[in-house]
Amino acid sequence: MAVDNTALFKIGYGLYVVTSNDGTKDNGFVCNTVCQVTNTPNRVAVTINKQNYSHDTIKATGKMNVCCLSTEAPFKVFEVFGFQSGRNVNKFEGCTPMRSSNGLVYLPKYINSFISLEVEQYIDLDTHGMFICAVTEAEVLGTVETMTYNYYQSNVKPKPQPAKKKGWVCKICGYVYEGDPLPADFICPLCKHPASDFEPLD
Ligand code: FE
Repeated sequence: MAVDNTALFKIGYGLYVVTSNDGTKDNGFVCNTVCQVTNTPNRVAVTINKQNYSHDTIKATGKMNVCCLSTEAPFKVFEVFGFQSGRNVNKFEGCTPMRSSNGLVYLPKYINSFISLEVEQYIDLDTHGMFICAVTEAEVLGTVETMTYNYYQSNVKPKPQPAKKKGWVCKICGYVYEGDPLPADFICPLCKHPASDFEPLD
């Protein structure tokens, strides 16, 4: 029996900012492993890498907010909450967040709902911890659909810049010769000026 790991990439995910507070500052991180697991009562599972500062904070405090990112969330949100650690920086500096009844923050924009969770069970998964939680408060804040991981990959994450074409442009008419070097005897096919009237593309 073969295991094609790329088959697992076909599992769909949403993207969320999960917030918590370590007692001195608000924090949040980007998480894709948020999943409702039962509905009577509502329970939500959130799985967090143990290396993540929020893992320890949430394990200690037993509460978190899940902010459901909408497709309006710009790349900046991922830079602030995803690419740095709350151990070293205050991710909410320069942002005036909203607060839910549990005292934790939620993002003032770029989300379509928040869900406040209280941890009921913790499952140790070696590299990760899985928090099984009760829902204590939840509110819909907008109609824009939830950011999926696929949407992020296709529309939010910056694309690598295509390699610049080498070539020469005619200073007289703007004709572009693709290639380098420009043949010395080249004549512009549009305005018939010689190679000396071309300059390199930059
Ligand atoms: Fe020309």
